[in-house]
Amino acid sequence: MSKQFLILASGNAGKLKEFNQLLAPLGLDVRPQADFGVGDVPETGLTFVENALIKARAASQASGLPALADDSGLEVDALDGAPGIYSARYGGEPKSDERNNAKLLEALSHYAEGQRSGRYWCVLVYLRHPEDPVPIIVQRSWEGEILTGPRGEGGFGYDPLFWLPDQGTTVAELPAERKNRLSHRGRALQALVETLQVAHG
Ligand code: IMP
Repeated sequence: MSKQFLILASGNAGKLKEFNQLLAPLGLDVRPQADFGVGDVPETGLTFVENALIKARAASQASGLPALADDSGLEVDALDGAPGIYSARYGGEPKSDERNNAKLLEALSHYAEGQRSGRYWCVLVYLRHPEDPVPIIVQRSWEGEILTGPRGEGGFGYDPLFWLPDQGTTVAELPAERKNRLSHRGRALQALVETLQVAHG
């Protein structure tokens, strides 16, 4: 099987490794966008899908390769979906997990247990070329509740506050391998792999 290059519209080394592990068996070699001189593009969309499409299209345009982009965030019901697409910078610039978590706790301070439901979302977009009229899009969520204080040291972002009722832990208390299997991102990636397997015959 000849190798096919794919550009990842992200500068995150952890994501690159994870994507490569799952896509290598399909003969895909995932390269970071920095290899092609592509930097961050303004995420001007109002949805995860739009932002992932913007990133994938820019990366594909600049590299001449098929591109993959992801966009993710946390949606909290009591906050009408906030922080949503603004999850990374919810607490202001420059982005800080600590400030994001403090703002989330403050915003939910008047909500009792049972009123603090939410979910992580991950959207993945795969474009064969910049003008691809039928991008492959997968979206996966991960249900949980926002605690009133942090628990656990693992993960990143909102993980110490994100309680998984069916696991009896926060995401920050899960071993990394288990998070990757259960998470919005892990399951979206798995679904994308299955879709590409079909597309690649
Ligand atoms: P990005 O898609 O990597 O830019 O992530 C957007 C933001 O959503 C992150 O900065 C986090 O605040 C939040 N987020 C997305 N996925 C996770 C997760 O698995 N754990 C914790 N926070 C997450």
